[in-house]
Amino acid sequence: MSAPHALYFHIPFCSHRCAYCDFNTYAGQEALIPAYMQALLTEVDVVAASREESLPARSVFFGGGTPSLVPTRLLSSVIEKVRQCYTLEPAAEVSLEANPGTVSAQGLQELRQAGFNRLSFGVQSANPFELKMLERTHGFGEVIQSVQWARQAGFDNLNLDLIYGLPEQTLEHWQNSVRRIVALGPEHVSMYALTLEHGTPFGRWAQKGLLPLPDGDLAAEMYDWAGDYLAGQGYEQYEISNWARPGRECRHNLQYWRNLPYLGFGAGAHGYAGGVRYANVLRIKTYIERCESADRRTFDFPLSPATVNQHRNTPREDMQETLLTSLRLTREGIAEGRFREQFGLGLGEAFPKEIERLTRRGLLEWQASTLRLTPQARMLSNQVFVEFVGE
Ligand code: SF4
Repeated sequence: MSAPHALYFHIPFCSHRCAYCDFNTYAGQEALIPAYMQALLTEVDVVAASREESLPARSVFFGGGTPSLVPTRLLSSVIEKVRQCYTLEPAAEVSLEANPGTVSAQGLQELRQAGFNRLSFGVQSANPFELKMLERTHGFGEVIQSVQWARQAGFDNLNLDLIYGLPEQTLEHWQNSVRRIVALGPEHVSMYALTLEHGTPFGRWAQKGLLPLPDGDLAAEMYDWAGDYLAGQGYEQYEISNWARPGRECRHNLQYWRNLPYLGFGAGAHGYAGGVRYANVLRIKTYIERCESADRRTFDFPLSPATVNQHRNTPREDMQETLLTSLRLTREGIAEGRFREQFGLGLGEAFPKEIERLTRRGLLEWQASTLRLTPQARMLSNQVFVEFVGE
């Protein structure tokens, strides 16, 4: 019996491109939604046909983009196809990313009936000035309304996302945003530092010195304060950017962080299964054309007509990736026993110099036989990761 897989569906449609965003998503192409969703069904079929047995699936996640722009009946058809082609575990987590302002009371009820059991709302801030600067199209009133409707529809597993380190953001503004989302009682909170991506308007403005960003010390203070506040409110940090009520960790994302297999469907989706990392074509129209012309040819698992890049990992790459993704798990880290069982050698044998250097610098620590980031390394995790990959 194969290991359970996670299934990711990328929905690359947005009503507007936000100035900081570099995700593979497009505004003004909503007319392509029906054809795109049909292409997703084809891709699921093709990948499933490359296996003799039906793969077990632990989670289904629709991310984007703005999946909540897609009519529920089209999202349902994908869930239905997943049930036909995979063995969905009875307790499978089925998540949808949604933008407040793109949902309705009835729409959320339909989603719940269609089998979705988790929603992730992109809130980003409770401050009207910050939301405007991010070019988000919702206000905090719509967040409150969306959460109420989600609860009425029976969703008992909600995530709310925030971004910190925004231009002109003060500690006080940030604290207010965190308090206001916690007051809504989500089961899960994600907090990401603003990153300035090359090629985005934010990236260009920052290069010209036009974005008055908080310095590193203030951003660290925001992160530390929020972590303490969330802990005091009963949330446990389990990943660098994620907190949850006990037992409400995101099962889908845990699959990535434990470096376990997942299939990615849709334009620009990535996957890792059968020892192969792969990526799909980015553009929506090309994705649809490729799936339409698939002509039921057979592909080697886990590839599909939309695949444009593939790479079979070497054992060394698998070790590196397992270590890097697992170190993101702040409590769980990486257990010596699991690593040895998977790769036939211990962490200290695979990465002797790196682990020694990083523990000496106070960035990694052993707790019993588990290797973890130290609390002070959580905001410096890139320094840790570079050490392992640069080797
Ligand atoms: S709504 Fe989300 S995915 Fe869409 S452009 Fe804005 S940040 Fe990017």
